[in-house]
Amino acid sequence: MAARADRIKSRHCAHRAPTHSELQPTVTDSNSNDTQAKPSHFLRQIIEADLAKGTYATRRWAGQPGTAAQHLAGQPDPARIRTRFPPEPNGYLHIGHAKSICLNFGLAQDYKGVCHLRFDDTNPEKEDQTFVNAIEDAVQWLGFDWQAFGGSHRFQASDYFDTMHGAAVYLIEQGLAYVDEQSSEDMRKNRGDFSTPGVNSPFRSRTVAENLARFADMRVGALPDGTAVLRAKIDMASPNINMRDPAIYRIRHATHHHTGDAWCIYPMYTFAHPIEDALENITHSICTLEFEDQRPFYDWLMDKLSAGGIINTPPPKQYEFARLNLTYVVTSKRKLAQLVADKHVSGWDDPRMPTIVGLRRRGYTPQALRLFTDRIGVSKSDSWIDYATLEGSLRDTLDASADRAMAVLDPIKLHIENWDELMGAGHLDACTAPVHPHHPERGERSFMFGADLWIERSDYEQEPPKGYFRLFPGNKVRLKYGHVVECVGATYDAFGELAQVNARLVPDTKSGTPGASAIKVKGVITWVGASDAVQAPVRLYERLFKDAQPDAGGRDFIAALNPDSLQTVQAMLEPSLANAAPGSSYQFERLGYFAADRVDSTAQAPVFNRSVGLKDSWVAK
Ligand code: ATP
Ligand code: MG
Repeated sequence: MAARADRIKSRHCAHRAPTHSELQPTVTDSNSNDTQAKPSHFLRQIIEADLAKGTYATRRWAGQPGTAAQHLAGQPDPARIRTRFPPEPNGYLHIGHAKSICLNFGLAQDYKGVCHLRFDDTNPEKEDQTFVNAIEDAVQWLGFDWQAFGGSHRFQASDYFDTMHGAAVYLIEQGLAYVDEQSSEDMRKNRGDFSTPGVNSPFRSRTVAENLARFADMRVGALPDGTAVLRAKIDMASPNINMRDPAIYRIRHATHHHTGDAWCIYPMYTFAHPIEDALENITHSICTLEFEDQRPFYDWLMDKLSAGGIINTPPPKQYEFARLNLTYVVTSKRKLAQLVADKHVSGWDDPRMPTIVGLRRRGYTPQALRLFTDRIGVSKSDSWIDYATLEGSLRDTLDASADRAMAVLDPIKLHIENWDELMGAGHLDACTAPVHPHHPERGERSFMFGADLWIERSDYEQEPPKGYFRLFPGNKVRLKYGHVVECVGATYDAFGELAQVNARLVPDTKSGTPGASAIKVKGVITWVGASDAVQAPVRLYERLFKDAQPDAGGRDFIAALNPDSLQTVQAMLEPSLANAAPGSSYQFERLGYFAADRVDSTAQAPVFNRSVGLKDSWVAK
């Protein structure tokens, strides 16, 4: 088994060349719950360089987020680094978020810092408490939390609206922002494009007093939605369009789920996010590559606000990494929501969904997801990760932990004709097997061998193809942990369908007894006794999409759905599975890893989900 696991590992590592970061020296982490050394990458190198230089060593911390003055009155910051995971609570988290969580919380853990869980609720959209709870659950389930240095680091961006408003007023006072009342059409036209510089707005030369008065009008609700925006005054000719006087506040007469009707102007994400980072003393603000072009504005804003004494210094810095793109799934909350709404799946936690709740229900473990994020590493260029890499991580973690059991997914009866004659009519013979082959201390399971057994339909062939060593007339096969039988043929029903396989017991061949190996057989098959089999539904999942990149290039991903992604069979299981705890994982020998469904299983009546097969056997049809 160990050798097999190694082969799987090397195969999964071999399917792509090691990235530059994987070739870098490794850092051993003492804090993390994974014992493996983690590969270094450019973010680790940046953090290590900052720690070596003491970039953030003199910062002070108010004990909670705050302005420069509040932090200065506090203690030396006990956290060596601060990162953050900033979800918008508008959906369930997916595997891409898991990467971001493992990265941000993992780095904080490894470098004796803290990662903040920040709900980014600057949009006055309806926040759903279900999503907030699910996000907290997901972070904790992955093995992380936001408690550190004696306090909680769970924050929400809407708590900073006052400070953000103050920062906007400060920019106006400095002549660095103005209220623009061009129509949105003119504003778009005057922004220019990649080849044409922008044109200054006629409102750009307003005086400070005029801008303050107009911004106050916006603030008190005197202006309707869309009639004015506050813009940073930077450079309409900048080659970076994001620096052409970006909008920083807009009017939205909407009730916010936390601040109610206190505000009718809301900060734009590009303005709010750097300020949130700064107030929270974030050192390394890690985001995905789409935000690379926003970095100059991030730095511009941090520079102006630290010069004005509003935010703590040195300010945070933004670093970008490539988002996770995983083949055969979509990772966009909007698209996942559509799959749920249009009932292509049973819900956000459908075991085929790449959501954290879906993966969990499928049988994924936190260890497997952490191993996956370590294996795929962190890079600065976009790429697609093969779904098989995710599956390999699950296999490699479950191999060591999952209890073993036998199951038959497509049952056909095997009748042993001479059983009663040799063993006595109705006799049942107890067989045993280890719960885990490498952990004898985990004990044994037992089940009954008798005249009638269940075997897989595919384990019999009337006319065996070349290299087929299982049951066919005249061939001897071992029933694992049981006896050797010799096949004598089969019976068929009126439709010509296989109805029963017949065999004869070869005496004195019981596994574990002296002389059992005197007869050499090439085939060993799994089975379940007809006398003690437990019948249960088993859901066989395949990939949700037929195409590796279902939504690439704006394609209709619904058309790429795999119509055969779920097949439910009535399987026969060995008796040890009768009381499988919901959520527990097993290796069904020869078949793969299966988890007792967390939702539909009861302690008396299990329902199993196939988490992953034993081998990577996916062939796109
Ligand atoms: P979606 O497009 O699915 O709605 P999002 O980026 O809008 O995702 P947020 O809730 O804003 O979702 O994301 C929270 C954090 O998760 C962000 O810091 C974002 O960079 C990160 N994140 C989201 N998707 C991925 C991904 N595929 N790979 C890595 N990080 C991701
Ligand atoms: Mg978002």
